[in-house]
Amino acid sequence: MSEKRQVPPKSSLERTAKRHGIAVVVVDEAGKQGPAVNDNSICAVLNPNGVLVGRCARDCGRALERATDGNATISYTCHAGLLCRAARFEIDGKPAAVIVGRAFTSSENYRRAANRAMTGDWRDLPASRFFENILILGSDAPIVDALREIKDEAKKQALSPAADSSEAKEIARRAAALNAKKKGTSSGPDPAAWRSFFGSLLGRDYISARNATIEFVARQFEVSSLIWLEERGDRLESTAVSAKLKGRSINVGIDLDDERLAEAAAGEKPVVLGRSPTPEEPDPKRILLFAMPVGDDIPAALVVLDKVPEDARRRAIARFCRAVAPQLEILRLRAEMERRAHLDEVSERLAEGIRELDTRELWRHLARVSADLLQSERASLMTREGSSENFRVKGSVGSLFDLENETAAGERVARIVFERGRPIVVRDAAATGLPPVDKERKYKTASFLSAPIWLGERQLAVINFTDKVTGTPFDGRDLDLVKAIAPQLAAVIDRTQLVERAGELEQLSVTDPLTGLLNRRYMVQRLSEEVKRSNRHGYPMAFVMLDVDHFKSYNDNFGHPAGDEALKIVASVIRETLRDADVAVRFGGEEFAILLPQTTDAEAANIANRVRQNVASTEFPHRKVTVSVGVASCSSEVCAKMDMISAADKALYQAKAEGRDRVVIYQPTEDDLPQE
Ligand code: GH3
Ligand code: MG
Ligand code: MG
Repeated sequence: MSEKRQVPPKSSLERTAKRHGIAVVVVDEAGKQGPAVNDNSICAVLNPNGVLVGRCARDCGRALERATDGNATISYTCHAGLLCRAARFEIDGKPAAVIVGRAFTSSENYRRAANRAMTGDWRDLPASRFFENILILGSDAPIVDALREIKDEAKKQALSPAADSSEAKEIARRAAALNAKKKGTSSGPDPAAWRSFFGSLLGRDYISARNATIEFVARQFEVSSLIWLEERGDRLESTAVSAKLKGRSINVGIDLDDERLAEAAAGEKPVVLGRSPTPEEPDPKRILLFAMPVGDDIPAALVVLDKVPEDARRRAIARFCRAVAPQLEILRLRAEMERRAHLDEVSERLAEGIRELDTRELWRHLARVSADLLQSERASLMTREGSSENFRVKGSVGSLFDLENETAAGERVARIVFERGRPIVVRDAAATGLPPVDKERKYKTASFLSAPIWLGERQLAVINFTDKVTGTPFDGRDLDLVKAIAPQLAAVIDRTQLVERAGELEQLSVTDPLTGLLNRRYMVQRLSEEVKRSNRHGYPMAFVMLDVDHFKSYNDNFGHPAGDEALKIVASVIRETLRDADVAVRFGGEEFAILLPQTTDAEAANIANRVRQNVASTEFPHRKVTVSVGVASCSSEVCAKMDMISAADKALYQAKAEGRDRVVIYQPTEDDLPQE
């Protein structure tokens, strides 16, 4: 005969849910779900507004249909991989199913769900809410116990509906716990502290929860030297220590496939690592390793260096670690999701606009995005200059100085990092053997991070960070971030360097190999830019053409090599006579051209004359050499209407005609200018 059970009050369901770390929901005949207690956040996200949709409607939504018999309990793993148990109850005289669980009991299912949320079909669901309250259990026992408790509660209510039995039960439970403590059967932390600690965990971020866990264990179990191990590749390695071990160099780790680890996860006791006692060494140094399993995985472990001789205390620590592990794994996973989302965003920004930026801007862009990623006020990227040993800052942000033109850049730190090929994270520069920083730099903190950027086997650059926005020192997490974006940085840096090298090649193609001056190709391009600028801003500007007089005979008399030598001398005289902003080119053969930006025609005539005089007064190996010069000025209307090269050429022709070794300023005639 099927008995009729009333669904217990919400307060009672809540206590059960919390105690066992499971969800409790009530679903009616129509498949409608009532308010859920401690619901798994996956369920909450998949079924917004508490309405069971899609495959959830077919799993939890039909629980009542399947739990036909009043005494039957059904058990199922839903499409999301969550284990559930359900039984038939009654609410307001109507049948309803109470579903408990909605928890992962296998790490495989849990990982699968995490992957679906990160990269699979659930990736569009709100990630932050997804991992708010993931329920993970080491076994299905809490689910079985919880449903039994709810049934018991219903039975008790049926017997004495007036008594608020749930409250009474809670008081009884506390009394029992206290009694147990007095009798010494419990070696664990006091239950109230334990509960409030667990309650606070999910409100924290992973790092702070992990650190709080270490300190909680230290306090509650009266141990002081603790090391936290975490999965790194195929090992568990130390990532944090208790206060007492801070600042000490710790090197403890264990392979994930080490059998002792599996053994620690299986039993309720730690693995004892170290040598066994011998008659010579009755009390050797040994450490205790407590596994923190999540399903079949062991993503973390806690190592205790203190002596813990009592079995009861060891068991209590083991139990605590086992209980806290899933909570921390949720936080770790949540942090990992956030980290990925953040990195995706940074990757996007790194790639943004890199085609439009010139190389100088690109270096700065990389420094800026990296600085933002690490919340660092200052960052710089350094490379070695060509084949030389010198470092140069290629791009920087946040510096008070012009690092990019600094000659002794990178001598303190970057060189060491480059030569060792490994990153360094320094919390306090004063505590290192490094030479002191220049006070002028006005660094806010003494912490910095410096890392090499590799492309395969090739070390491309060093990236440096100083002054975290938060004022806190850089740490391993910052280094992890740098490592995560390093491949992308390397790709962009490599491309930038290629573009720079191509620029150098291009430079070669605009240089005249005999004289080292720029060539005609360069001048033609540059001239058109200068003419535009001059027209736009009304700057004066002049263009000068020179031709060596009677050069054919120079060649004929002294040979072509001697002629070349003479051309080199002419080029160097021109170069020495000009100002920095002026541009001289070998225009072809024995012709040279000079661009004089922001120069009036009077100044241009002066400069042209000085060049002519200097050539004429220079001693050449075989005979005197002179040049004829034509000057065209952009201050006249020539510039806008006529080609400067032909204008200067005309003037030059005139200089030749007038007897050579002279300067002629072009004067436009009516015939020269195009008719309007
Ligand atoms: P002018 O300009 O005064 O009218 O007489 P020119 O003899 O200089 O006239 P022209 O332009 O006819 O001759 C230019 C000569 O310059 C021809 C060539 O022998 C010489 N020349 C041109 N390019 C080079 C060069 O690269 N090296 C040498 N050695 N000679 C060159
Ligand atoms: Mg000529
Ligand atoms: Mg000539």
